[in-house]
Amino acid sequence: MVKARPARNPRVAPPLSAKIVFELPLQLRARCVKTSATPNPLSGSTAGDTQSNMKIHEYQAKEILAKYGVPVPKGEVANTLEEANDVARTLFAEGAKGVVVKAQIHAGGRGKGGGVKVARTREEAELYAKNILGMTLVTHQTGPQGQKVQRLLIEETAAIDRELYLGIVLDRAAGKLVFMASQAGGMEIEEVAARTPEAIFKETIDPAVGFGAWQARKLAFALGLKPAQINQAVHFFQSLYKAFVETDASLVEINPFITTADDKLFALDAKINFDDNALFRHADIKALRDIAEEDPLEVEASKYALNYIKLDGTIACMVNGAGLAMATMDIIQYAGGSPANFLDVGGGATQEQIEHAFGILLSDAHVKAIFINIFGGILRVDRLATGVVAAARNLHVTVPIVLRLEGTNVEEGRQILKESGLNFQVGATMKEAAELVVKAASSVVRHK
Ligand code: GDP
Ligand code: MN
Repeated sequence: MVKARPARNPRVAPPLSAKIVFELPLQLRARCVKTSATPNPLSGSTAGDTQSNMKIHEYQAKEILAKYGVPVPKGEVANTLEEANDVARTLFAEGAKGVVVKAQIHAGGRGKGGGVKVARTREEAELYAKNILGMTLVTHQTGPQGQKVQRLLIEETAAIDRELYLGIVLDRAAGKLVFMASQAGGMEIEEVAARTPEAIFKETIDPAVGFGAWQARKLAFALGLKPAQINQAVHFFQSLYKAFVETDASLVEINPFITTADDKLFALDAKINFDDNALFRHADIKALRDIAEEDPLEVEASKYALNYIKLDGTIACMVNGAGLAMATMDIIQYAGGSPANFLDVGGGATQEQIEHAFGILLSDAHVKAIFINIFGGILRVDRLATGVVAAARNLHVTVPIVLRLEGTNVEEGRQILKESGLNFQVGATMKEAAELVVKAASSVVRHK
């Protein structure tokens, strides 16, 4: 049971209702503080876009959808300018009136950021490919540092009549998948959800029955599709649902889903996230992971089975247990600071893991102080203390470290810290430790 808790620090609270915050799995909540996450339009949460959901590129999503019978424009991925020219040449030779050059990064909003360009000639296509390949594309989802474009998708252009929206997500409150459709395609669905929620049509899917043709038809009519398009749409939606279920997806989004002047339907853009917990049964999908698109520190952490998510603040946290990690982030905010990360070293962390964890925390240039909050259960406090002392020595840690320790062998642990001769501060309570670390961070100036 999730108990009600008091109101939250207003700096974290605004986009989320308290109910959602506490029902969100821990990693997801950690993501909530991240500005670059894609909110789930159903709940205003970030459930659709988290660490535990592997992302893939648009071109990969389209390859998967095509296998399930979802119509996608003709096109191919290109890793170099030469390959881009080849694809464009072939498409024009096969009768394309134009091609669209699309940056492949794990973030949306590429169109507005200059990462999607329509070319009428081969020369124009080459020019766009040259400009986009290698550029640092900044969109509302990449964060201000942007993302380097390493691949392009070159596709035949479609004669767009209407831009619509389709999405399948899990409705956590209902415990069921929801198929969403909207006439407001090409726009950000979170905005539509916030301003005109009635413009999003939803069909809740009974897991025992599946997504019914009648539901697909209902959505097709709600979208105002023409009679000549209805049957195609039903097939399209059902294929999309089948793809979602069979790949163990956590999110499928087609934005825009388009109709053409000659009554055809296409997925013009495609986004699929997968449930990490099911990847073990999809070796082919697992192989689509593109580490170059992920945060390097998070990739490093995953190598050592550390549960790490980078955030934007200045106080690094090292904590055992995800619940305690969440509470630690909360209390840092409460004390007036901001967490630099979510880090759960797990119940049985080894000294090696603790050292790696330190390394990761310290390579974040924003970190001004470290807060170690450990409740020693399986992980005995003396063992942790030994690990912390060794890591602090080996890595020449210079930023202040504040600890709050409780649990098995806590006295021995405190003794080890004291005898190390290193400058650790220990808080008697979690609140006191949080206040100490916020104070310590505010007096540190760090240059990279
Ligand atoms: P996003 O901005 O990252 O979501 O990228 P999209 O793939 O959705 O592309 C953004 C916008 O570019 C779409 O909403 C379309 O308006 C436009 N666009 C994409 N492909 C084509 C195309 O083949 N033809 C035309 N005319 N416009 C396109
Ligand atoms: Mn899009």
